[in-house]
Amino acid sequence: MDKPAIKEIGPSKVIQLFFPVSNLHAIVVVDNTALGPSIGGVRVSQDVTIEEVKRLARTMTMKNSIAGLPHGGGKAGIIADPRDPKKEHYFRIFAQAIKDLQEYIPGPDMGSNEECMAWIYDEIRRATALPEEIGGLPLDKLGATGFGLAKCAEIACPYANIELKGARVAIQGFGSVGKAAAKFLSEKGAVIVAVSDTKGSICNPDGIDVNELIDIKENTGTVVNYKKGTIKRCEELFLIQCDILIPAATPDVISKENVEGVKAKLIIQGANIPITKEAEEILHKKGILSVPDFIANAGGVIMAAMEYAKKSEKEAFDAISERIKKNTKLILEKTFKEKTLPRQAAEAIAKERVLKAMTSKRIL
Ligand code: NAD
Repeated sequence: MDKPAIKEIGPSKVIQLFFPVSNLHAIVVVDNTALGPSIGGVRVSQDVTIEEVKRLARTMTMKNSIAGLPHGGGKAGIIADPRDPKKEHYFRIFAQAIKDLQEYIPGPDMGSNEECMAWIYDEIRRATALPEEIGGLPLDKLGATGFGLAKCAEIACPYANIELKGARVAIQGFGSVGKAAAKFLSEKGAVIVAVSDTKGSICNPDGIDVNELIDIKENTGTVVNYKKGTIKRCEELFLIQCDILIPAATPDVISKENVEGVKAKLIIQGANIPITKEAEEILHKKGILSVPDFIANAGGVIMAAMEYAKKSEKEAFDAISERIKKNTKLILEKTFKEKTLPRQAAEAIAKERVLKAMTSKRIL
């Protein structure tokens, strides 16, 4: 029998969980498992929605596919304050609720970390990015995603007529991803000229001392306590005069409302879905090159998959470097050759692999 053409790749499961005794709501989306069990982070936030988790799960399908991992895409959201003192309790009941959902392997995301993964692992023996003490590769502590963003920048800079050494970089968000990106990029000679967190932006066109800023963020909780710079509002970061802009915090931060003010020549998407579709099209028309999230920020999930396959830290870093450099070049070559958007070029390659795997499966 001829198999019908596949029109949609997912989501295959959208699950809402409610725990009345704890008054806790959670969401799990398994987008696609044609390439293997899905891997994706657990976002903890008071305003995470089903729609957001669905979009993030699709991004994971694309990311895992193009990174050549034997994993599909999934994502979860726990609707709670990430600083809630009952966080461990929430994670343990969440873990028990997904115990039999073998096709979803949790990892960290905004509002969760290695400690949260250890709680899940303790309950159900299924989680990635575990602390070192229990045999994990702590991807946030090691800066896996920021390392990958720096590798991506190395390849993308010539396509945007920039030299990485001396390039001025602005970073939104100074958590695991933002800090590591700042560190690895400054080691390559880039100059960090602006960084923001929820309290505001700190800017210095002559360059920010990254190690000092990391100390200040860790000891005082915010980058705006850095003394050698000007404080601006959070949203002004996107309008800063710079060569490379790295959104590394929340979704949809560059939209039609602010895209016209973006002055960077290159955007490396550190966060997941940080730019709306409309804004990506406008950036393209303005000649601003924007490397999509699932190409640029795959470092974390590559390390998570390496840990799951029991590989070493060195093997994980080598895999991140090799795959992100190769994929950045692949999609930028296609972008310029076919005069298309980088996201379209990347999606076409990632989707082809998923569809091929789907056609080899039993029809249900
Ligand atoms: P995190 O929680 O460690 O850090 C987030 C940072 O963003 C914090 O400094 C916070 O203050 C800041 N922030 C939040 N809202 C902001 C706002 N409106 N303006 C300015 N700053 C704001 O999170 P993370 O692990 O660094 O992840 C950041 C983003 O990268 C998320 O979108 C996440 O999904 C994505 N991502 C993370 C990884 C990873 O390895 N951790 C991998 C791929 C993608």
